[in-house]
Amino acid sequence: MDSLHTTEQAEAYAESALALMLKHGIPPHPINFTIWYCYSSREIPDLNEALDALVAHGGQLDEERNAAIYRKFCGLSEALPAHLIAERIETELAMVLSALQQAGRSAHEYGLTLRSAAGEVAHDDRRPEVYQILGRLMSQTRVMALQSRELEKQLLASSTEIGNLKAELEGARREAQTDALTGLANRKMFEHALRKAIAEAEDSGTSLSLLMLDIDHFKKFNDDFGHVVGDNVLKLLALVLRENVKGQDTACRYGGEEFVVVLPRTRGCDACKLADTIRRNIAGKKLYNRKTGQQLGTISVSIGAAEYTSPEPAASFIERADQALYAAKWSGRNRVVAAEDIHGAIVPQPRSKALAEPG
Ligand code: GH3
Ligand code: MG
Ligand code: MG
Repeated sequence: MDSLHTTEQAEAYAESALALMLKHGIPPHPINFTIWYCYSSREIPDLNEALDALVAHGGQLDEERNAAIYRKFCGLSEALPAHLIAERIETELAMVLSALQQAGRSAHEYGLTLRSAAGEVAHDDRRPEVYQILGRLMSQTRVMALQSRELEKQLLASSTEIGNLKAELEGARREAQTDALTGLANRKMFEHALRKAIAEAEDSGTSLSLLMLDIDHFKKFNDDFGHVVGDNVLKLLALVLRENVKGQDTACRYGGEEFVVVLPRTRGCDACKLADTIRRNIAGKKLYNRKTGQQLGTISVSIGAAEYTSPEPAASFIERADQALYAAKWSGRNRVVAAEDIHGAIVPQPRSKALAEPG
């Protein structure tokens, strides 16, 4: 199913697939249709061989066997995301429906032609057998039209099911990329966003920056006010990040109380300005517990900023932002440090835990 077909080709394959499915009494399930569509297009010779052998030996094409054939031959590979598979099936299904409606129309027209021919020979006593043949053809055409309407109904139901499935897959995909506590993108999504941003920066020669944030003395905050209150602070920080990043930027929870922001098409100096806006915004909030009214004081963040230097591995880019963050901590916290400004500076202790290569 990887090659692209013209609409005419696709319709011809779809029609042939449906005819074969009717012939072998195979239900018009999307998976079955995909198998027989591939068979008709002959694009997977091994699949044709397997199906021919199965049919020749009178093998049953039951659900289990169909699913096995589908898995084996029709490219249900790990590399193809499930939502793309659903989309493909949906597209194929739409084509079959249109082919089927066309076939229904042709059958109807054919029926009308037969009826008018039957009318013409009805009173011709010399050819009674012709009248009988036409009668049989008319009743077979009626059966065919009924079957094709039934198929159409079932395919419509399948396409609704696929629509629901697609929505569910989309939801699951979003959930897998989201941090449950803050609703920000998670680390997996960060790795994806960073890879994409680096590729774009390499291709277009545009700048790219990265911010790495860490809440200052958060352990003490948790110890003083409890983990649940600490969680609310993480949510508040996510809100501030969301308010300060634009459409192309990606703010993510990197883990624990650390956050990262990928800033495509942004120079280091602009990234530092944004970082300082975020830092001031957070430091300026007077926190209190809504339930108890207890004053919680303020929190602050330290931020490391780095501008991408082409060509540079993602791990090294992250490491430079992390070293800048460490420098911000070391030099007093509640501040922004640019990686470019710490060249040659003595960094007393590496923050090794954050240096891991993503993915
Ligand atoms: P520093 O200024 O050097 O960053 O000090 P710190 O106390 O923030 O750093 P440290 O690494 O010693 O402690 C991090 C704390 O963050 C420990 C942990 O209680 C807290 N933390 C990490 N993840 C969560 C979370 O999901 N919820 C809450 N409430 N706290 C978390
Ligand atoms: Mg930390
Ligand atoms: Mg911290």
